[in-house]
Amino acid sequence: MMNRQGRATAPGDAAAAPVRTVLGHRGLDHEEPLIFELGQDGRSGVDLPEVPAVENRLGGLARKAAIALPGLSEPQVVRHYVRLSRRNYAIDMGLYPLGSCTMKHNPRLNEKLARLPGLADLHPLAPASTTRGAVELMGTLAHWLMVLTGMPAVAMSPKAGAHGELCGIMAIRAALVARGEGESRTRILVPESAHGTNPATAAYCGFKVDPVPGTADGRVDLAALKAKLGPDVAAIMLTNPNTCGLFEREIMEIAEAVHGVGGFFYCDGANFNAIVGRVRPGDLGVDAMHINLHKTFSTPHGGGGPGAGPVVLSEALAPFAPLPWVVGTADGYALLEDAAGQSFGRMAAFHGQMGMFVRALAYMMSHGGDGLAQAASDAVLAANYIQARLSDVMTPSFDGPCMHEALFDDRFLKDTGVTTLDFAKAMIDEGYHPMTMYFPLVVHGAMLIEPTESESRESLDAFIAVMRTLAEAAKAGETERFAGAPHYAPRRRLDETAAARKPILRWTPPAPAKAAE
Ligand SMILES: *Cc1c(COP(=O)(O)O)cnc(C)c1O
Repeated sequence: MMNRQGRATAPGDAAAAPVRTVLGHRGLDHEEPLIFELGQDGRSGVDLPEVPAVENRLGGLARKAAIALPGLSEPQVVRHYVRLSRRNYAIDMGLYPLGSCTMKHNPRLNEKLARLPGLADLHPLAPASTTRGAVELMGTLAHWLMVLTGMPAVAMSPKAGAHGELCGIMAIRAALVARGEGESRTRILVPESAHGTNPATAAYCGFKVDPVPGTADGRVDLAALKAKLGPDVAAIMLTNPNTCGLFEREIMEIAEAVHGVGGFFYCDGANFNAIVGRVRPGDLGVDAMHINLHKTFSTPHGGGGPGAGPVVLSEALAPFAPLPWVVGTADGYALLEDAAGQSFGRMAAFHGQMGMFVRALAYMMSHGGDGLAQAASDAVLAANYIQARLSDVMTPSFDGPCMHEALFDDRFLKDTGVTTLDFAKAMIDEGYHPMTMYFPLVVHGAMLIEPTESESRESLDAFIAVMRTLAEAAKAGETERFAGAPHYAPRRRLDETAAARKPILRWTPPAPAKAAE
């Protein structure tokens, strides 16, 4: 079936909308064409003066045809984007249980500070004499990160968690090369429960990825790990708390064993929100760890904003850190742009994500050290509350308390005909963005729920009520509710594989109607 804009609609749509509306809108949910379909030649939201006739200095390379930007008035543009935005789910709309992603409230204070003209309008090439406040802000943030992690150095420029991993592994490689072991240490150990970015980073840097199995209680199998150690091991990449939402109890033994064979300990610190202010990774033997500022120190992210992934480094790796460095001088902080030392180079053209730095520091300073520790405790409490309240109707994957996220698998759906995917789609009908599905891979049909600390008791209870109702409905055989879900979303169930594999990224204007003969 094709709707008015010529896009295919799922067959179930007619059932969901018994009355076919004139324009395809449903209540206050508006159908919206592409902006290119809306645009008209010559229409504009601004009046610009005629372009003066100037001599063409492009050597004949000037554009010959119109640029084909859509022409719209200002209210048309505003409505277009507002209509689209109303079809999005956001942390400002409701609980966003996406495990591993730490979708937490972003205090408005952060936003206010990030918009201060002296910070928002900074140009990365502005003369150093005019950017001293910004450099001090970076230095202060770096100081907080080093204190909170108990690590002696931090590289500020990586622009996301995965970029931070790349930074850490490049520092490790530089250290190995300096030791004369660049050729001999070729293997990086990666536990099976790792985030996909870990093996990807190791492989990208030219290392062999060697998976380490987990135990029945969701942690790294220490004996299996020890059996894999040898003189060719460059490093281990370990997530803690891990992607099953559990603290690696034997982390110090792991660090000792890896160091014992001359390898480095890379810790994926994306889940730092669960332990900040309570455990210092430096005390656990970590050599390098990225921190997702956008998961621990608020700041919007996930389709809606950029991230920042500073990497804290041990004494052994600090000399290899990428430039620039923020250094304390007799009269304040300064940026060291080219050091003669052993730095492996640069991660980015400039200095990192300034807007994220402002937000993260605002979050830290408004919470204080004690407030950050409280946030971590509350995040763990909220996840355990959900796990405890759902344990009788859903199946938690591991016994005992969790850290910041509660992991369930699909055993409770056995013989119901309902899958993890169906369950997640039914959550959309109930007004929730689904939890993380089918990750981590170590449990079957995984459902990873991370509520974060910023949800109230009422909001957790509402979510729990929905999850309980759905779990009971699945067991009661109400398969219709699940098989066709989502029933109430602007689009029904999509062919996600085709959407990912064969995305249509280019709009082609319709052929002009043939002139009548
Ligand atoms: C989010 C996450 C990453 C990657 O961080 P990005 O900022 O998305 O690149 C890596 N590891 C874990 C455990 C994560 O949760």
